[in-house]
Amino acid sequence: MKLRDIAIGANASMYFRLNFKKIKGVFYPTNEDEVVQAIAAAQKMGVSVTPKGGGSGLSGACTGGNTERVMISSLRMTDLLKISKDTDQPYIDVQPGASPDEINAILEPIGFKLWVAPSSRDIATVGGILSTDGGGNDTWVNGTMRDNTIHAKMILYDGTKIIVDQDGVQSDNDELAAKLNSVEMTLHDVAASHGTLGFITELRLVIKPFPDEKLIGGIVKFDNASELGIALDKMIERRSKIRYGESIVAAHDDIRGGLSTPLLILEFPDSEMDEVLDIVDLDELNPSELEKMKDIRIKLPKRNPAKGKQIALFEGYGFHGDNLMTMQRGIDSIDSLLRDHGLEPFAKYGHAPSKWYLGDNTPAFGLIMHSREIRPDDASGRDLFDAVLDIVELTEKLGITPKPEHKWPFSDKEKLTRMNQLREILNSHFNEFLFDSNCDDVLSSMV
Ligand SMILES: Cc1cc2nc3c(=O)[nH]c(=O)nc-3n(C[C@H](O)[C@H](O)[C@H](O)COP(=O)(O)OP(=O)(O)OC[C@H]3O[C@@H](n4cnc5c(N)ncnc54)[C@H](O)[C@@H]3O)c2cc1C
Repeated sequence: MKLRDIAIGANASMYFRLNFKKIKGVFYPTNEDEVVQAIAAAQKMGVSVTPKGGGSGLSGACTGGNTERVMISSLRMTDLLKISKDTDQPYIDVQPGASPDEINAILEPIGFKLWVAPSSRDIATVGGILSTDGGGNDTWVNGTMRDNTIHAKMILYDGTKIIVDQDGVQSDNDELAAKLNSVEMTLHDVAASHGTLGFITELRLVIKPFPDEKLIGGIVKFDNASELGIALDKMIERRSKIRYGESIVAAHDDIRGGLSTPLLILEFPDSEMDEVLDIVDLDELNPSELEKMKDIRIKLPKRNPAKGKQIALFEGYGFHGDNLMTMQRGIDSIDSLLRDHGLEPFAKYGHAPSKWYLGDNTPAFGLIMHSREIRPDDASGRDLFDAVLDIVELTEKLGITPKPEHKWPFSDKEKLTRMNQLREILNSHFNEFLFDSNCDDVLSSMV
């Protein structure tokens, strides 16, 4: 593997102009001891460490910025270590570099599954997914990665090993464990920490059997996004048994085909038909038509405009609570801001109903929307990055979660404060650039 592969990898973010000279070492450990050695090399050089998984993170965190750093890839740590299925809480122990698809290829033949399914599940690693607290279109039912992790083993900058679970921290270093437990560090802190606390070397993940139910599905069309938001709000309030939900809120003429938006693709147990019909008018689809709709949604960001270049400028914001009911207003305001920046809104789609966590670890339920824009030929990195900052400010004003923080590190101030508190105790030097007051300048120079 080449330096460029590890530095950029599958990196789908808009940040790809890296200064390769600042990368002082690249390591592909296969086990815990080799991770300790790789971190020791960084410590000797006095540089920061950037853990990297599949490189599918969109926020720029997995690039490590442009500071001097050692990069440690988990791509050779893909072993499935143990499966325990005859217990009250079945689990699998895995190294951090395995992807959900790789894990499920082993589990499904024995009737079990890891129920965390980001659209990137073929390339994202479980270590990366916990670090960004990712999830897919079933987080509403199955939760995000933190809900599916029993514990994570991590190596700190000084080589100390810790195990973090939902209740606290264990370590051979009693003093450190006591300090971390006194500030109530748990797995919630590791979730969405963007690789800033330590290198995850192993995860114990929740596995569950397939439910015994027959699913049916279809699409629901709406006149505007607020109507869609109101329907979602009802489903969330009634805890409707939606197993799969995806929205297409807007699609540019170039990729629209025969679709009229906004629409919602739903799948639920057949026993719930009356409940769902009480909330929405469903056009039922047969299984192959339903799969076709799911495929259209997945391909949406991959289809290119006739002119210009598609860009994931600000990949996601979360509508929940009151702003779900006035969703159209939120979308119009963001689109108008994009146009002010010379960008053309291109596609908007997302998991719905969905679950994510706010920076203070409160779960939020609503719609996580992803968006794509067309990048003007003459726009500089700084222009684009300024548009991102303006959107963050606007969404905050509108009460929409700006870029649910598993996508853009620490746009949530509470998470940022918490990470700083823990990093001080951990003496952490992982992904340090994210805490630099010039982080925005660094990221904008990389667009
Ligand atoms: C096409 C596409 C679709 C996507 N769909 C979804 C989706 O549906 N839902 C969703 O949530 N996300 C989605 N994403 C975003 C992305 O897949 C997630 O952020 C993913 O969780 C990142 O995993 P990764 O292994 O690629 O991590 P990377 O991108 O390599 O790293 C992400 C972060 O985790 C840290 N990290 C990685 N490995 C470790 C480790 N072993 N120890 C400590 N820190 C580590 C890195 O330093 C970095 O901060 C999508 C991305 C793409 C490109």
